[in-house]
Amino acid sequence: MNELEAILQKEILTRDDLTRLLKSEGVDREMLFRKANEIKLAHVGKKVYFRGLIEFSNICSKDCYYCGIRNSNKQVKRYNLSDEEILKAARFAYDNNYGSLVLQSGEIESEAFANRIEDLLKEIKALSADKLGITLSLGEQSEEVYRRWFKAGAHRYLLRIETSNSSLYQKIHPDNHYFESRLKSLRSLQEIGYQTGTGVMIGLPFQTVEHLADDLLFMQKFNVDMVGMGPYIEHSDTPLFKYQSELWDINKRFDMALKMIAVLRILMKDINIAAATALQAIDPMGREKAVRIGANVIMPNITPGSYRNNYALYQNKPCVDEEPEQCMGCLDARLAIADSEIGYGEWGDSKHFYKRTNSQLK
Ligand code: SAH
Ligand code: SF4
Repeated sequence: MNELEAILQKEILTRDDLTRLLKSEGVDREMLFRKANEIKLAHVGKKVYFRGLIEFSNICSKDCYYCGIRNSNKQVKRYNLSDEEILKAARFAYDNNYGSLVLQSGEIESEAFANRIEDLLKEIKALSADKLGITLSLGEQSEEVYRRWFKAGAHRYLLRIETSNSSLYQKIHPDNHYFESRLKSLRSLQEIGYQTGTGVMIGLPFQTVEHLADDLLFMQKFNVDMVGMGPYIEHSDTPLFKYQSELWDINKRFDMALKMIAVLRILMKDINIAAATALQAIDPMGREKAVRIGANVIMPNITPGSYRNNYALYQNKPCVDEEPEQCMGCLDARLAIADSEIGYGEWGDSKHFYKRTNSQLK
């Protein structure tokens, strides 16, 4: 038995083990992927669940150094979908049996924004006879706002920690964005009863493989229900762009993202893991590759086509010229290639959440 095989047999993985797995190459890497896929099939099965992603506004009050729609980027044409447009996209998700949707936007903390989301949640629940599952990804908010949205029908929330290393976090954010607030938000979400998701960017400037191993341990320790993580992709209108020459090659970032997914599947067997869109920005089959080695959730973009170009968190975002209808057939075919079934009309909730909270799987 070689060193990697021995690690894959262990019950408890240490930081060194995780680092070794993330650095695996050649036959070792193949072995890692095979093991992750076996664990995925045994614990969450071969079904992939869809979350129709509605990027309803790129207006953001924050200034994350990596993000193309940060407040200070004056090159961005700002948009905000009307309620009717959002509800139309939600109806599309419902009519096409997506099971769930994700509402995502820049971060706005205001009473008007909180009220708007609360009303939209109720309307989406009503138009789908309570059948559409709803995930929110609207950044840091007060505990009270999280509670209101939960009551109005949202049951999952995605808030990436971006990196679990607080000093790296500070390097990629302005001084008034706090690692501690991000953590506090994640704790509130968990306490309120959301299925709580987090994630990190992979291949950030100053980031090491050891940081990534720590990120995986953070997810385990925090006992999250869902993870969405993908490669960092530079954007020329952002402050981090100046470190472009120090980054890992884009293919290495892509490959490391796949290994992160595989190792996480081994570490947290029954959580939901999303195949991030950023994978597809690098490789047209990126998400399908992720599904083969551990991911079980895909977030097809159902934002009306005309707005997609302006939600450029990073450059070369895929499918920006397509309409939601065009994405459908495309995904069906590709997932069949990845030996998966699509859980049409199902919420596909995190099994981990139900075990963690001792409640019944819906
Ligand atoms: N404003 C919300 C949700 C939208 S941003 C929030 O920040 O939580 C969603 C995610 O996009 C972020 O969490 C970040 O991880 C990712 N992102 C932003 N810029 C990126 C980049 N340049 N490359 C890869 N992912 C990026
Ligand atoms: Fe705004 Fe989110 Fe981008 Fe940060 S990552 S600038 S909060 S949209």
